[in-house]
Amino acid sequence: MPSAERFAALQTIQRRRPAAVQAPSALQDIWASDVFTLDRMKEALPRSVFKSIQATIREGGRLDPTVADAVASAMKDWATSRGALYYAHVFYPLTNLSAEKHDGFIVPKGDGRAITEFTGKLLVQGEPDGSSFPNGGLRSTFEARGYTAWDVTSPAWLMRTPNGVTLCIPTVFVSWTGEALDKKTPLLRSNAAVNAQARRVLKLLGEKEVAPINSSCGAEQEYFLVDNAFMALRPDLQLSGRSLFGAPPAKGQQFDDHYFGAIPERVQVFMQDVEDQLYRLGVPAKTRHNEVAPGQFEIAPVHEAANVATDHQQLIMTVLKSTAKRHGFTCLLHEKPFAGVNGSGKHVNWSIGNSTQGNLLDPGKTPHENMQFLLFCGAVIRGVHQYGPLMRAAIATASNDHRLGANEAPPAIISVYLGSQLEDVFNQIKAGQLKSSTSGGVMQLGVDSLPEFPKDAGDRNRTSPFAFTGNRFEFRAVGSGQSVAGPLVVLNTVLADSLGWIADQLESCLAKGETIEQASFAALQRITQENGAVIFGGDGYSSQWHELAVKERGLENLRTSADALPVLKREAIRDLFHRQNVLSPVELESRFEVYAEQYILAIEVEARLSLRLARTVIYPAVSAYLGELAGSLQEQEAIGLSPSKAVAQQIAALNQQLLDRAGSLEAAMAAAPHGAEAHMRHCADQLMVRMGELREAVDGLEALVDDAAWPLPTYQEMLFVR
Ligand code: ADP
Ligand code: MG
Repeated sequence: MPSAERFAALQTIQRRRPAAVQAPSALQDIWASDVFTLDRMKEALPRSVFKSIQATIREGGRLDPTVADAVASAMKDWATSRGALYYAHVFYPLTNLSAEKHDGFIVPKGDGRAITEFTGKLLVQGEPDGSSFPNGGLRSTFEARGYTAWDVTSPAWLMRTPNGVTLCIPTVFVSWTGEALDKKTPLLRSNAAVNAQARRVLKLLGEKEVAPINSSCGAEQEYFLVDNAFMALRPDLQLSGRSLFGAPPAKGQQFDDHYFGAIPERVQVFMQDVEDQLYRLGVPAKTRHNEVAPGQFEIAPVHEAANVATDHQQLIMTVLKSTAKRHGFTCLLHEKPFAGVNGSGKHVNWSIGNSTQGNLLDPGKTPHENMQFLLFCGAVIRGVHQYGPLMRAAIATASNDHRLGANEAPPAIISVYLGSQLEDVFNQIKAGQLKSSTSGGVMQLGVDSLPEFPKDAGDRNRTSPFAFTGNRFEFRAVGSGQSVAGPLVVLNTVLADSLGWIADQLESCLAKGETIEQASFAALQRITQENGAVIFGGDGYSSQWHELAVKERGLENLRTSADALPVLKREAIRDLFHRQNVLSPVELESRFEVYAEQYILAIEVEARLSLRLARTVIYPAVSAYLGELAGSLQEQEAIGLSPSKAVAQQIAALNQQLLDRAGSLEAAMAAAPHGAEAHMRHCADQLMVRMGELREAVDGLEALVDDAAWPLPTYQEMLFVR
């Protein structure tokens, strides 16, 4: 029998009915209806203006101010005709959230009237009071102000809330001196870097026509839904996004009966509501299903240009959270809300391509396409080997640390999974001769065709952090709460750098009179010889791999963010970002500062919360229960029974241990050293460990104390009741 508060919560949930949503609208009626699409622009603008903006979108570059005025006016007319009174420049500061500054279209006139107005200047540039956004010292060194500037390559949309309709303009956020204060600016720069270097390689391969090359991203988003009646009783979930205490339930995910099982009705209605809104926003949500853990689900959109996918990914997270509230749920995007239960990731599917050559990571039908594919794939392999620690740093957050290497998510060691066929091809290249892996005949590079690589789920290696899946790579170690921008920036930059290296190799071989086939083979052979150590097709969860990877392959195992984030300070990393014009040394330094601070803050909040909950919620509840228990034992003795006192003594001992461990956590909290790196280490080695010890005492108590006296909703309730 649960405690009174928990019982009331259970009753509330039992009375809940699926929220009323309208029948799903016909897709053609709602698709992108709240987006100022290219088609809408074309309709609303004079031909010459539209042509100009189209060229800016395609080729990048500055927007002509007169064009901006015309676009702004058309955008405003469209938005106000749909009820918008406000506009907002949306940007992505160095948190994983979106930020917006809202302004009215309204302009009061001297004669008491008011009109709406929106100029090109307002569209193109905003000046949010950004001083409260994390900047890692960038703005204090340079200039306090930050500016937002319209990212023309991503369309504006309408955000509908109970407060009204707002026109949202996707922007980049930079300091007065042009330093990137956000996640979007480096993403755009990294796309430019890939474009430049991939173009070089394609030209060397003899391509005459090469359209602008862009990266694509399709991100699978995992999340948990927990009923709000339980949330109200769990300050830890509210404040830190994860349960700091909670004994494992009798039934966990061992039965695998949740994965792809029938979606509960209340959740289905929620999902339909989410999709309806996303379709209006032009977000191509495509798959939905239950995930491995009870209470865990997934939504995945179809892949899009990385830049648009980043905006859309942020919208997905926003819509998931706001919609959940309306359905009586809280949507948890934390990577590990429940210890011992599967965590949530965000698999970032990534490829690069253009309109003339198509997907450059797709093995083609002709030998020429195959050579091109092997070079691009080789470039990725080289990049991952040389910059694996940077990829680890790009996914380093306090919350994702709980997931990586936790025997259900990829390890913190970054390796590449290619699948047996492709791995075989690269092994042959390494050995100096390429034979067709299917027929066994000799395959000269560029003469024969590669076999098709399986794209089906059967050949997937779930234990790999980074896997080739037929025509793209899947970065599986990314955290569910992260912006995809950071990981994409790293992938693009690393690839651009490797492609640059390949282009250099090809150029020097061609200059010596070699054929392009010979030159390509030589480059690929060097890649496999120098970087083959990163290719791994075995079980990434196993302890043997951890040994082998570090001792024999020389790969790094950066277990925590305290190990991984300092990678950003390495000279090689600074040079890489600088060389590719993605982040200046100062910008990179600022990112280290910000991410280190976020890591420290997250863990210190959890430590304070653990302490508070243990002392003010758990300890009093257990003490009161012990008092009752003692009274009952006395009464039993009074009537001549001889009750066992063992359980009471065990509980009393654990409750004392709780106090002791709380004291030791508190002492550690007071002893934080100065300096970001030392402070991070302290969080990882001291606070996390002591929080774990405190938790052990609390969870031990939960398993002994009368259910009716236990104040916090249990794992079983939160995971299974909805
Ligand atoms: P899974 O079997 O992992 O669920 P899906 O086929 O559902 O795979 O695809 C997962 C994601 O990968 C989707 O967002 C999909 O659009 C995306 N994706 C597919 N092809 C590519 C590609 N070439 N580049 C980037 N993302 C892609
Ligand atoms: Mg997947």
